[in-house]
Amino acid sequence: MSKIHVFNAGPCLLPQQVLDRAKAAIDNFAGTGVSLLCISHRTKEWEAVMDETRALWKELLHIPEDYEVVFLASGASMEFLYVAMNFLEHKAAYLDTGVWAHKALKEAKGLGEAYALASSADKNYSYVPKGYEIPKDVDYFHITTNNTIYGTEIHEDIDSPVPLIADMSSDIMSRPVDVSKYTMIYGGAQKNVGPAGVTFAIVKKSALGKVSRYIPTMLDLRTHIDKESMFNTPPVFSIFVMNETLKWVKEQGGVEAIYKINRKKADTLYAEIDRNSLFRGTAAVEDRSIMNVCFIMAEGREDLQDEFFAFAKSQGMIGIKGHRSVGGFRASIYNACTQEDVEALVACMQEFEKQHTI
Ligand SMILES: *Cc1c(COP(=O)(O)O)cnc(C)c1O
Repeated sequence: MSKIHVFNAGPCLLPQQVLDRAKAAIDNFAGTGVSLLCISHRTKEWEAVMDETRALWKELLHIPEDYEVVFLASGASMEFLYVAMNFLEHKAAYLDTGVWAHKALKEAKGLGEAYALASSADKNYSYVPKGYEIPKDVDYFHITTNNTIYGTEIHEDIDSPVPLIADMSSDIMSRPVDVSKYTMIYGGAQKNVGPAGVTFAIVKKSALGKVSRYIPTMLDLRTHIDKESMFNTPPVFSIFVMNETLKWVKEQGGVEAIYKINRKKADTLYAEIDRNSLFRGTAAVEDRSIMNVCFIMAEGREDLQDEFFAFAKSQGMIGIKGHRSVGGFRASIYNACTQEDVEALVACMQEFEKQHTI
């Protein structure tokens, strides 16, 4: 069997070193002789992992003083509600860039007035809306920086006259971010920083406590900030793996170095999509994501789609089927995906082209 190359959209591929350490910890956590799955989260060995994980987030993203990082046992879909619960008082504006953005907006609508300021629904979310003006009369403006399903990404940290809140589920730790421009950055771990079961939220502390509603204890970000993400039993395994993933990011040279590698991977793959006569990209060129690369068969060659799937599979490519709302192919090239993996996919596309052109 040929080597396999994993391009799953989420849960993502994780570095081998991370998996090896997780396996070892399941046998014996931090020399305690107890499995990671059975330890008490009230031990000093576990508290050290929590402290280190928080410190790594702060170091890798250069998180300013007034911010805290919390880890919540839920999904990014649950954090849509956290956002509205903790920040929506009168009105909120959302940038509608796809399914996830839409779902985030829905939760806010359930709690108050919220609307889509701009949308790219007219072209099946294949681009990021531009030229809109952020109103000053809203409590916050919500964006989804990377649209996992459509392969579009907001590459800059935008300037906002109102608190900016971002779902960065699928591009967190893939590139440098100016955290000071955001009031909250959140996401699920399973796209780039760990396994499923835990989410992160980077929150500007001074922005909390401004809504008048009752916030249920578990949905109040202050609960988790005050108790250092240990108000209740944290998802120990997921946080452990996140910790190892962040250590790996640091060993690669940090987010700045990872970004260069990611840029090169994305450039390599998009160059092949643009060159290869059998394929074409679906996202607007200037908005192309460096994490999720979406493409389809070229016009007139759609009949080759199933055959390419089968060929790619035979060559060890896993997880390249596009989301059902877009079709075609999607290669998710998160941090743990290597240049070698990308080149294997490119070679596969080139070979397929050779077989199908005269
Ligand atoms: C996957 C994803 C979500 C949903 O994450 P869950 O943890 O499964 O709820 C939300 N936003 C974005 C951008 C995503 O990619």
